Amino acid sequence: MAVQEKEKTYAIGDEIFTTCGKCKSEMYHVITAMTEDVIKKVMCKGCNSTHVYRPAKEKTAAAKKKATTAAKPKRATRSRKLDWNALSAEIEDDELKEYSMTEDFSAARGIKHQTFGVGVITKVLSDTQIEVLFQDSKRVLVQNYL
Ligand SMILES: [Zn+2]
Repeated sequence: MAVQEKEKTYAIGDEIFTTCGKCKSEMYHVITAMTEDVIKKVMCKGCNSTHVYRPAKEKTAAAKKKATTAAKPKRATRSRKLDWNALSAEIEDDELKEYSMTEDFSAARGIKHQTFGVGVITKVLSDTQIEVLFQDSKRVLVQNYL
C-alpha cells in the first residue's frame, strides 16, 4: 500500500509563498484569516497589503476538491489508433490471414476469425500471443500454439 502523504495544514500566522497582486510576483505572505482549513486572507510581506488568498499551486483540500469537480470528466476520446472501423478499412482483404492458433501472425496485419470476424492485429505481445482488435472488443489470441 502506498503511503499517503499528509496534506499540509496551515494556521493563522503561518507563512505561505503565494502570488501577490500588488507585487505581481510570488511573495511570502502571513496568513491573517482562515475558515477551518481554508486560507482566506494573507498579508504580503513585501508590500504589507492584505488580500484574499488565491491558491496557486498550493493544494488545499478545498481547492483540490474544486479542481476535481471543475475538471471535465476525461472521456476516453476515441483514439484513432484503436478505431476498428478505420483500421480494418486500411487492410486489404487479401492481407487478412485466416485465424488458427497454430499459425504465426507476427507479420500479419489482420485476421479473419471464425467467431469474431475481421480483426486488426494491434500488437504482437509475444511469440505466442497477439493482441487483436475486433469490431466489438479487443482480444488476446494465441499464435504459434503447438
Ligand atoms: Zn505584495
